[in-house]
Amino acid sequence: MFKKILVANRGEIALRVICACKELRIPTVAVYSEPDRDSLHVRFADEAVCIGPAPSSESYLNVPSIISAAEITDVEAIHPGYGYLAENPNFAEVCETCGITFIGPSSESISLMGNKARAREMMEQAGLPIIPGTGVVGESQAERLEAADSVGFPLIVKASAGGGGRGMRIAETSDQVIEAITTARLEAQSTFGSDEVYLERYLSRPRHIEFQVLADQNGNVLHLGERECSIQRRHQKLLEECPSPLLTAELRESLGSLVTRAVSSINYVNAGTVEFLFDEEGNYYFIEMNTRIQVEHPITERVTGVDLIKEQIRIAAGESLSIQQEDIKLQGHSIECRINAESPLTLKPSPGQITAYHAPGGPGIRIDSMAHAGMTVSPFYDSMIAKLIATGANRKEAITRMDRALDMFVIEGIETTISLHKRIIAHPDFQAGRLSTAFLESFDFASP
Ligand code: ADP
Repeated sequence: MFKKILVANRGEIALRVICACKELRIPTVAVYSEPDRDSLHVRFADEAVCIGPAPSSESYLNVPSIISAAEITDVEAIHPGYGYLAENPNFAEVCETCGITFIGPSSESISLMGNKARAREMMEQAGLPIIPGTGVVGESQAERLEAADSVGFPLIVKASAGGGGRGMRIAETSDQVIEAITTARLEAQSTFGSDEVYLERYLSRPRHIEFQVLADQNGNVLHLGERECSIQRRHQKLLEECPSPLLTAELRESLGSLVTRAVSSINYVNAGTVEFLFDEEGNYYFIEMNTRIQVEHPITERVTGVDLIKEQIRIAAGESLSIQQEDIKLQGHSIECRINAESPLTLKPSPGQITAYHAPGGPGIRIDSMAHAGMTVSPFYDSMIAKLIATGANRKEAITRMDRALDMFVIEGIETTISLHKRIIAHPDFQAGRLSTAFLESFDFASP
């Protein structure tokens, strides 16, 4: 096992990785930007190194600084968390060449799945259904119109290198498609450094359902069931649950084994998530694979009893999975609400100082957060300040616990999405499990 791990991230996920390391008795090194000097991940790590000023490009994305911090502190491995460098194949490769273990898949797997147009092809070959669509679209107007016609309307233009719900444009008609491709390419180039885009049929009111997988270096692969992440705003997840109210045990088993076979066929190692959209007829299609731990991993942990971060670390250290597929039993139901420092009406960021903070507890509640009274939520970073996870024997109990935990969650000084979540879980469609990615489109944000 590793003698020391550097956590190349901030916020709740840095703390979460430190928790796992403490339980495995592995000393940790935190890295931090200047304004994060007093953050909890710095306080709870065994050592800490400042890696630059506030902008992420100069700190949490600063590869030379992070590698120097790793070398100075003599760590054996780096956990990247999610976001930042977690899906950057160059960073994984630099770690590999410097003799530091990257806790995640190989740089080849990251680049393979990081190109979403290629990932579609690979996963189709591996036996997963994909949404009708194209490869990377060509340069000429004629090629683009022909590609669009072959897909049909409405369609969605997506960046091959895209992520975080960005670089996507919907076109309803062939008149809109050229402009949609042009703007998606510009956004993709400036956000992801590549202007490759592809087209997919745009599904109306789909459900987003994803499978968690774990694979070790010795060829063992298993899945830990699914998470439903259909409650989204601007194609970004806001609330997730495990299991999905849609899936039967039979469908879980058949789709789960399809997923594990596909993941084995690309020789994938470590934790990963295979994402699907389900249309209104119940057909499902692969959309992408995330080659890292996900924000919403705790709900899977609560329902399966598996500590996914510890498994990631063990896998990276060359150990075999501590569990087998037969050991994975989904027990109860778990829901995660992402508590963001945002207006509950407009979802605009609300940075500032937290003046009072009380976290709920009691049966079935878990909170993954770095927030505390006196902390300043910086405009430089992601607005998510806490993940509230409620678990019950069934969906109804999980919802009841979430409701009372939201009531007992006190965060003052900034606006948060707490009251929005209360209204989402009280909605009759949510209560009935009638979910889709369009749920918030018809939601009346302004009414109390
Ligand atoms: P990202 O990598 O940016 O998260 P994804 O491909 O995972 O992008 O898609 C994110 C979300 O965008 C999905 O959960 C869904 O809400 C929406 N979406 C993506 N592709 C389609 C599609 N073909 N039809 C309808 N919605 C889509």
